[in-house]
Amino acid sequence: MIIVMKQGAKKEQIDLVIRGVKEAGLDPRPLHGTERTVIAVIGDERKLEKDKFKALTGVEKVMEVLKPYKLASKEGKHKSKVRVGDIVIGGERVIVIGGPCSVESEEQIIAIAKEVKKAGAHLLRGGAFKPRTGPYDFQGLGEAGLKMLAKARAATGLGIVTEVLDPRNVELVAKYADVLQIGTRNMQNYALLKEAGKQRKPVLLKRGMWATYKEFLLAAEYIMSQGNREVILCERGIRTFETHTRNTLDITAVPVLHELTHLPVVVDPSHATGIRSLVAPCARAAIAAGADGLTIETHTHPEKSVSDASQTISTEEFIQLMKELKAIAKAVGREL
Ligand code: PEP
Ligand code: MN
Repeated sequence: MIIVMKQGAKKEQIDLVIRGVKEAGLDPRPLHGTERTVIAVIGDERKLEKDKFKALTGVEKVMEVLKPYKLASKEGKHKSKVRVGDIVIGGERVIVIGGPCSVESEEQIIAIAKEVKKAGAHLLRGGAFKPRTGPYDFQGLGEAGLKMLAKARAATGLGIVTEVLDPRNVELVAKYADVLQIGTRNMQNYALLKEAGKQRKPVLLKRGMWATYKEFLLAAEYIMSQGNREVILCERGIRTFETHTRNTLDITAVPVLHELTHLPVVVDPSHATGIRSLVAPCARAAIAAGADGLTIETHTHPEKSVSDASQTISTEEFIQLMKELKAIAKAVGREL
């Protein structure tokens, strides 16, 4: 951290900063220039409260040198691989998670699971606890839905990705899920992040629709700081001034996150666009941009989906898309 004092800062003000740094167990090195003093802080600056120093009279600005997300940061680390059974996320192979928005019935989820598996999907998605904008909308089948997902796994061998909404349900969902999903609306639900961090199950963390990369990575850090290092980041579109699409797919997030973090990055073109015809082109773009995987809402009868019908593709479209993605993955030095 570098603390820049204001021009003409008094000696007592400089001494106060130096004392504060020492009290935190770090080593302050003041550099007295002709116009102003700069204090370089040697040691792990994350132990310092940046705002406390910013608020001191005589301080002009405080600059961080290290990333505030220590565990999620790329600094000196190799890209991490998250394992879900035999599936590796973050390796050479691009992985695809297919399945409906919501689990609707045992027949529905098993039929879809079989179709996406046949098309080459690696994991099955489906919400049993649904975060809906309106309280009167379908809220999911709850534990009954989780049991149906477990049956679909038994029928196909596909690992299950399903959302947990409430810190009180983390253990319950973890009993059935292979990957715990934390949705966009809960990206800053710190109690939920901490609970998920106590589990030994991978977490698919979706980017808050309003979140900066830094906030996204700090949310991942919450999970990791509890001991769970198996975090997969998911770009799912952000809110912008554009209203034509449900969200705006921030494709830039893929290369940026690869520069900032060692964690795998997947893309959700379904929630990013909200429009069925846009899912395939955005999925292709995501793989071309270097995504480690995709999560795609797919249904045997998309128009009958109880939630997110307009962005859900058919299993036939999924089969076609998988073929296209294979070619794109190959073109960028990956496999599918
Ligand atoms: C989902 O993937 O089921 C979902 C609700 O997505 P998001 O949290 O990104 O809206
Ligand atoms: Mn959905």
